[in-house]
Amino acid sequence: MQKVIGSSPIEPTSSERAPFFFDFEYMEQIKIKFPDGTEKEFEKGITAFTIANKISSRLADDALVAKVNGKIVDLSTSINNDADMQILTFENPDGKETYWHSTSHLMAHAVQSLYPEAKFGVGPAIDTGFYYDIDINKTLSEEDLVKIENRMLDISKQKNPFVRTELSKSEAINFFEKKGDNYKLEILSKLDENAETISIYDEGEFTDLCTGPHIPDTSKIKYIKLLSVSGSYWRGDENNKQLQRIYGVSFPKKKMLDDYIVALEEAKRRDHRKLGKELELFHLTPKVGSGLPIWLPKGTILRETLEKFLKEEQTKRDYLPVVTPHIGNINLYKTSGHYPFYKDSQFPTMKFENDNEEYLLKPMNCPHHFQIYLAKPRSYRDLPLRLAEFGTVYRYEQSGELNGLTRVRGFAVDDSHIFVRGDQLKDEVCNVIDLIKVVFTTMGFKEFTTQLSFRDNNVEKYGGDLALWDKAQVEIKEAADLMNLDYHIEEGEAAFYGPKIDFMVKDTLGRKWQLGTVQIDYVMPERFNLEYVGSDGQKHRPVVIHRAPFGSLERFIGILIEHFAGYFPTWLAPVQAVVIPVSQNYFDYAKLVCNKLKSNNVRVEVDERSEKIGYKIREWENQKVPYMLIVGEKEKESNSISLRQHKVGDKGIMSLKDFSQKILDEIINKTNHN
Ligand SMILES: [Zn+2]
Ligand SMILES: [Zn+2]
Repeated sequence: MQKVIGSSPIEPTSSERAPFFFDFEYMEQIKIKFPDGTEKEFEKGITAFTIANKISSRLADDALVAKVNGKIVDLSTSINNDADMQILTFENPDGKETYWHSTSHLMAHAVQSLYPEAKFGVGPAIDTGFYYDIDINKTLSEEDLVKIENRMLDISKQKNPFVRTELSKSEAINFFEKKGDNYKLEILSKLDENAETISIYDEGEFTDLCTGPHIPDTSKIKYIKLLSVSGSYWRGDENNKQLQRIYGVSFPKKKMLDDYIVALEEAKRRDHRKLGKELELFHLTPKVGSGLPIWLPKGTILRETLEKFLKEEQTKRDYLPVVTPHIGNINLYKTSGHYPFYKDSQFPTMKFENDNEEYLLKPMNCPHHFQIYLAKPRSYRDLPLRLAEFGTVYRYEQSGELNGLTRVRGFAVDDSHIFVRGDQLKDEVCNVIDLIKVVFTTMGFKEFTTQLSFRDNNVEKYGGDLALWDKAQVEIKEAADLMNLDYHIEEGEAAFYGPKIDFMVKDTLGRKWQLGTVQIDYVMPERFNLEYVGSDGQKHRPVVIHRAPFGSLERFIGILIEHFAGYFPTWLAPVQAVVIPVSQNYFDYAKLVCNKLKSNNVRVEVDERSEKIGYKIREWENQKVPYMLIVGEKEKESNSISLRQHKVGDKGIMSLKDFSQKILDEIINKTNHN
């Protein structure tokens, strides 16, 4: 067993000593190229940390890992050849990920020191921090988390370096057998030592099986918050033992932790599961089934308003509505390739005893729309043909993955399949991008970014004619430029059937959500033998664009609820105004106001309860209704209302005519006053 820091077999040293490591008389030189394009020569074998230190001691302080020729490595890694290099800090996503993953080691260390019998599963970084799955004969409480957190802070101060050791599989097995760590042994048993280097990392008295990389030492981890603990089956399999998964997050600066806690409280306040219940939008009950939300009247109004908005925008752009059933003959999905390849994420097939046909709850709408295309012969003049449907699809998500509206088992996709000729592709991609931009702007998502997912050179992964692919990729990029998208290109992220565009929005809390998608497809048209007759009288293959600006309507509404914190703009609010008479004497006038607005299609009601006025106002404020119209003697006499706006408060007296005009303007223009 050779102990090393970094991936080269050199005697261990702490990262502090690393700068003086290569004090030889003569060293061969290597060239290091930095992200800003500058190039510098260093002695061969220099560590990434020493390079950071030579740039500035501040950078060396903040440095967590390095990216060398695209690979993230420990700072203690020796560099022996010319290389492109970037020093990564917490500000960099890969730096942050390594920081959080390293904190999961620190947490396991703290757990081991408090509960020596603990066994460890896996401890990765996630988007929002890290977790570790732990097997321990005690149900951990909130107080235990605080204890673990404090122990982590103690250990952090010990400034333990993360020391890498590469070893053979049998050496590793020996080690974890002695330690009695069954889970690590199970992971090891599945590793192929010829294919991958097996490494362990020591951090003080804690050793973990890990490929790395890690941050230099524990002292970098300064501010820690353990967030929750929940049950989690080993390897996500319900037949395995349930471990306890501790979630946490950590930061190098106090302000970062403080900001995080404020944002966390805000996110809790906006949680769509909580607001969905309070605002009576949707209901989830095991009596209907896990992951199968039912829509209450107010939620249905919200949903239908969104559908109406998109349908109108689509009609303007010559989309044609279609409707297809919720189940389909299994052969449809065999042709498309969804069955059996996605069998595990689908509900089981249905079959009657005396019937040869088998059916599937539809996992996608595409094959159904292809049948509509095939229902009659198509000519080049028919294209582009844009078929659109809010089509409900069903996926069997694991129960542990289900989450409110954002991860469900049945959801409506604002789906469309656009059949185009090759020469129409670019224009149509522009049309779709324009529509998606209209949707995002209307919802008040001010910031969104786009990923163009292209193919890489691993050509076996992709179907269809690669020359067409390359042309499409050029055109997608041109369309993205033309439409002023803020985009980046990811090679190797394309679907097997074609390149795609994914849209990410940032909500008011700065959280990123993946929403709309546009996918070019060269494979399905072949599988379904889609054709059109060209101007040359010959048969040609159309290209299919799959696109969905909302993505899943359920998920989109979940995100909207959190984005608006339940304070929907007037055009979306299930109840847009409520008339509150100050006493029974004004019920008639209140009804008159209500009917006047209703005749203009405003969603309005009268609160006729005999509660105190202050109580009613508080309650409607909690219901986040945009406008409260208070009416009494003064208002009745002058044919007016006293206006209260949600979040703002009293807006004073206003004639009924002016208010009607104001609310109608807001609804028609979809004004977002939040
Ligand atoms: Zn690790
Ligand atoms: Zn599709």
